[in-house]
Amino acid sequence: MREWGTSVTVRKILLYPKDEAALRRKSLGVKRLDDEVKSLITDLKDTLATQAGAGLAAPQIGVLRRVVLVRFGQETGEMDPPLALINPIITATGPLGTGFDGCLSMPGLATWDTIRPTWLIFSARDENWKQIKRRVEGIDAIVVHHEIDHLNGVLFLDRMEKGGKLYVVQKDENGEEHFVELGKAFSSG
Ligand SMILES: [Zn+2]
Repeated sequence: MREWGTSVTVRKILLYPKDEAALRRKSLGVKRLDDEVKSLITDLKDTLATQAGAGLAAPQIGVLRRVVLVRFGQETGEMDPPLALINPIITATGPLGTGFDGCLSMPGLATWDTIRPTWLIFSARDENWKQIKRRVEGIDAIVVHHEIDHLNGVLFLDRMEKGGKLYVVQKDENGEEHFVELGKAFSSG
C-alpha cells in the first residue's frame, strides 16, 4: 500500500515507430537492489496501473535496465497484481506455438501470429532481491517471453510468423472494440 501523500509517477511509454531506436537498445543487468532500482519498479507499477497491459519493461519507459513487470492470470479473467522481475532469464522452453501479442509501445495493434514457446521456466530476482524460479504456460509464458524480448531490443513484430496478420483495434459508435486487418483498416471508409 502506498502511503497517503506520496507521489505517483506515471512515465511516458515509448512508442513504435517514433521511438524505435531507443526500443531497439539492449538493457543492462542490475547489480544490486538500490534506491534507483526500487524507484524504477515503483514508476513501472504506477505507469502500468494506467494501462490495460499485462506487462511493461523498463526500456519502454526509457530506462535501459533489466527490469520488467508481468501480470499473470489473464486467462482466468482477473489478472494478478504486477510481479517485478529483475534480471529475468529463461532456463527451459517447451515447443513453439502461435499466439496472441500486443504491446503498450504499439497501442491499438494486435496479432494472433507470433511464434513463442508454449511454456517456459524462468528465474529472476523479485523486488525484494529474492531469487525466484517459476514455470508458466499459455498467455503467462507469452507475457514473460515478450517482456524479456524488450530487454534485448526485440519487438513482437520480429516474432511474427511468415504471412502473419496484424490487426488494428477500432472502436465503433457504441464503444465496442473490433479487430480490423491492417491494410483494410483505412480503405473501408
Ligand atoms: Zn511490449
